[in-house]
Amino acid sequence: MKSVKRTRPGGGFRAVFYTIGKALEVGPWKLWQKMRSSNACKTCAVGMGGQLGGMVNESKNFPEVCKKSLQAQVADMKGAIPIDFFERNDLSALLALTPKEAEDAGRLIYPVVLRPGAEHFTPVSWETALDIATSAFKETSPDRTAFYSSGRSSNESAFILQSFARIYGTNNVMNCSYYCHQASGVGLKMTFGTGTATIELEDLEKCDLLVLLGANPASNHPRLMTQLANLRRRGGHIIVVNPIKESGLEKFHVPSQMHSLIFGSEIASLYIQPLAGGDVALLVGVLKALIERSRVDNDFLKQHTIGHEEALASAQATEWSLIEAASGVAKASIEEMAGMIALGKAVIFAWAMGLTHHQSGVDNILALCNVALATANVGRPGTGLLPIRGHSNVQGIGSVGFAPAMQDGIRRTLETLYGKPLPSTDGYDIYSTIEAAQQGKLDVLFALGGNLWGSNPDSVWAADAMQRVKTTVYLSTKLNPGHFHGRGQTTLILPVLARDEEPQSTTQESMFNYVRLSDGGAVNVKGQMRSESDIICTLANGVLGQEPVDWLRLGNHHEVRKLIAEALPGWGEIATIEQSRKEFTIGGRVFHTPHFPTATGKATMQSTPVPVVDFDGLRLITIRSEGQFNTVVYENADIYRGMPHRHCVLISAADARKLGVFDGQSVTVHGEAGSMDNIEIVIGAIRDGVVAMFYPESNVLIKGRVDPRSGTPSFKSAPVRIEVPVRGDAK
Ligand code: SF4
Repeated sequence: MKSVKRTRPGGGFRAVFYTIGKALEVGPWKLWQKMRSSNACKTCAVGMGGQLGGMVNESKNFPEVCKKSLQAQVADMKGAIPIDFFERNDLSALLALTPKEAEDAGRLIYPVVLRPGAEHFTPVSWETALDIATSAFKETSPDRTAFYSSGRSSNESAFILQSFARIYGTNNVMNCSYYCHQASGVGLKMTFGTGTATIELEDLEKCDLLVLLGANPASNHPRLMTQLANLRRRGGHIIVVNPIKESGLEKFHVPSQMHSLIFGSEIASLYIQPLAGGDVALLVGVLKALIERSRVDNDFLKQHTIGHEEALASAQATEWSLIEAASGVAKASIEEMAGMIALGKAVIFAWAMGLTHHQSGVDNILALCNVALATANVGRPGTGLLPIRGHSNVQGIGSVGFAPAMQDGIRRTLETLYGKPLPSTDGYDIYSTIEAAQQGKLDVLFALGGNLWGSNPDSVWAADAMQRVKTTVYLSTKLNPGHFHGRGQTTLILPVLARDEEPQSTTQESMFNYVRLSDGGAVNVKGQMRSESDIICTLANGVLGQEPVDWLRLGNHHEVRKLIAEALPGWGEIATIEQSRKEFTIGGRVFHTPHFPTATGKATMQSTPVPVVDFDGLRLITIRSEGQFNTVVYENADIYRGMPHRHCVLISAADARKLGVFDGQSVTVHGEAGSMDNIEIVIGAIRDGVVAMFYPESNVLIKGRVDPRSGTPSFKSAPVRIEVPVRGDAK
């Protein structure tokens, strides 16, 4: 049964023609002006734009732009949802919308409400909408409310909203990173005392080896591919660890480099395809191989770490047979990987959700930190650890305190502002919020952007839970299926201004700990949209009054930034960023010397026992396609993987042979939480034993197997079974 070769190398002329097509949709000059405006890119956390100018990164490179940034910008410029849209589409029609159809409906420009028992959302005035929201908060107790933020919001609105929640009386404050990089934050903090990248962008230009794990930047962070192509061109190497042999990680055509655009750039020097969920075993194997080859830097470990003896002993004691079986990777390949790392003069380890979306997510990060420390690849220029973050400000909203646990500095600042102690109760993270909703413990859910329902595992369970909430308030630029499946008994969807439409400047933090200032600008579409901070301050003022906190004064971002500077170590410069227009790297985050913000000043290594996978059979990994960003779908096809639409399952030729299915055949996929019919078989470059389907649609299959330390469900090693239709049913 031959595998159908439909994949394409990443980037290249296709990306260029796509860009031209997008520009023609909204007008090339209008798009150019918007892309050149001093606003941070709205899409991923690599970061570009801001005060250095649109399409410029902090190394002052131009043009720094990609398909993803254009898709997001054009989507904000593409016209408004007609006023009769909700009249023409009742709830059942809205529930049937695909992510792409909801996205393509256009910008939401007027508030809408779905009242209890109604079959239609109806447009409503801002006054009425805010009255409904205010009453909802006033009619319940703080412990029965929860606040969620996606990573596209500004630092200012996130800081104001978490302040409102705390002063209102709850710590049920959670952000979207609980379902993406929370394990990175927890693991890095346990090891180094700080939970973000230990490097800045320039370090990528100084390393000679990059180990890329569980990530596909060719699709999700395209400008990172320029760094990878440059690394190979200067004689460096790249090890890719991913169950899928991603075409864009084998060869990528960097559109902004003529030679690469035409001939392509080799990316992976070594490609390791482990079993999904086999990362701890693989990384313990690498550490064991380093020990067996006497390539561990024991002097570095003695001087700059604690716990290394136990971590090394644990790895050494782990049998190769267990390592090979659990990782699905041969000893020889693991030794080859260890050998390349040992030879590296300056090594950076970068990863995405392929490492964090597991019940052992935190252990994956700890095991990776162990390998980096054992080879002294932290605390020197060109070395370190880089979680490749998703949304453009997901790191920022976490930094400014949008999480259940309140940082000491924020508590001090807010208690001074409020003049009273704030709650010290444990707050819900995302998963426990949905559990609370399921148990009828939630009266009000307030969501700043995002698609909370869509991001959850077990979509049927999540919908049932969220529909038990009395009042749900969404602040959004466009529609998504979560507004309807994740509706409350009363649901408000309030239209917000996009980042480049804000009347005041806002700030965002990239995954390189770099804070940008976005100027805002003219609206892309005329309507009744309001800024996030304006809505939140008006609501807080309505619920809590103007004493002791003057919420309306806090609507001024300069005032908010002064509080952030006071509350957060390393953020002092934000207080005057609007005047100085000087963007900055947050202090205490980037390590070019091996001294870490821990009690001992040393890093802490932890043993990471190989986890036991308690099921046999195929392991599902949910993936983002080249045509989407997080839950937002811009294109249904994934041109890099040759997956023609959203209802496909990527499977290896060997597994297809075993099941007796062929490319293009329609099957049913069964998971622990549900099933999906009419799923098209796509035979591709994925390793045996692992299959891949698109997120968020395939979340319906996945039960909430959650890593207790990160609160992140296992979206990347879920048990599934493929049912083959009886012969004659085949297409
Ligand atoms: S790589 Fe990310 S930050 Fe850079 S242009 Fe693309 S989407 Fe924007």
